[in-house]
Amino acid sequence: MLDDKDRIFTNIYGQEPWSLEYARKRGDWNNTKDIIAKGRDWVIEEMKKSGLRGRGGAGFPTGMKWSFMPKQSDKPCYLVINADESEPGTCKDRDILRNEPHKLLEGALIAGFAIGANRCYIYIRGEFCNEGSTVVKAIEEAYANGLLGKNAAGSGWDYDVVLHRGGGAYICGEETALIESIEGKKGQPRNKPPFPAAAGLYSCPTTINNVETISCAPAIMRRGGEWFSKIGPNEKNTGTKLFCISGHVNQPCNVEEAMGIPLKELIEKHAGGVRGGWDNVLAIIPGGSSTPLLPKEICDTVTMDFDSLRAVQSGLGTAGVIVMDKSTDIVYAIARLSYFYMHESCGQCTPCREGTGWMWRTMQRLVKGHAELEEIDMLLEVSKQIEGHTICAHGDASAWPIQGLMRHFRPEVERRILEYRKMAA
Ligand code: SF4
Repeated sequence: MLDDKDRIFTNIYGQEPWSLEYARKRGDWNNTKDIIAKGRDWVIEEMKKSGLRGRGGAGFPTGMKWSFMPKQSDKPCYLVINADESEPGTCKDRDILRNEPHKLLEGALIAGFAIGANRCYIYIRGEFCNEGSTVVKAIEEAYANGLLGKNAAGSGWDYDVVLHRGGGAYICGEETALIESIEGKKGQPRNKPPFPAAAGLYSCPTTINNVETISCAPAIMRRGGEWFSKIGPNEKNTGTKLFCISGHVNQPCNVEEAMGIPLKELIEKHAGGVRGGWDNVLAIIPGGSSTPLLPKEICDTVTMDFDSLRAVQSGLGTAGVIVMDKSTDIVYAIARLSYFYMHESCGQCTPCREGTGWMWRTMQRLVKGHAELEEIDMLLEVSKQIEGHTICAHGDASAWPIQGLMRHFRPEVERRILEYRKMAA
């Protein structure tokens, strides 16, 4: 369990006001200029030492991502912060934006300095109206107090932060679609390469990081990368993590815990346990809707980190834990996710545009059992034809929930088909 002294997000529940006055009391913006005075290479090195992996879902090492930015550039460099949090089951960034916006802004200055950017865009999900207003007020407060703008925080580094509100499309959370959207175009993912570090926003070198990732930076710089790297089960899975626990639990919540905490302990300690007790678990989605579900036998022992969850053919993703007890119609639940991914496909590539609709229509029939047994394999085959064959990871995200369902609940799907046949005969 995470020690209180190691907590980064000390106001995640909004016990205190988010304002600069209170943020300073909590340690935010404390001698930020001293961190910057240590230089760009030191900041990146410390981030690498921490082992922090991106908290937006993909888990790419943050220090390495920062080091991809050019040391010298004729063009301006940009930091873009992804606050488009739209993955079903995930609401951690929302609480940072709401209750700890100054942690994010301080992190933005440190990260911007490290990558050579003088300008940062925070791209916020359109539906986050109140959170957007809070961030705007926090930005204004930071400017009024010399923490942003010319010579930001007395560091000698000029830094501007702009909040950009999205229109609410899920796919704008994909980093290159997000860039297109800021540029005023339709939010559709770009083909890669070139990657954003070479040609991102306005074709300039750009780093895109998630809200939680950036908000961890100040604590890592103050306390040292080594401190962060000591939390968690091993060097590839370090630090603290915000988990969002929802579904059939007694007290749904967001909680900061150590990476690698057992899933069962996470739910029992922080979310009041599963409705009806742990034995009432049917399945749990561990990392937001796109990660494959896990049946109870695996949930009994699995730990919450990138590699442990990958080893059981799922993923940590955004750490949006969705608990489903035995009252759940598991086939319907996954069919509902299929509808979501069909609806949110941007339509650029054929396997995703056509395949997501095809999978949803088949899933709808499977809910009732109105299908042939062979269609299960056909559905899996189609999901494999989508996975890895599209411009962005949306194709994979649409395929994985179905693959997880068939991996662990195929007998239930078959039972429905056989029962429907009997009824129809
Ligand atoms: Fe668009 Fe889907 Fe292709 Fe991504 S995978 S670019 S969402 S059509």
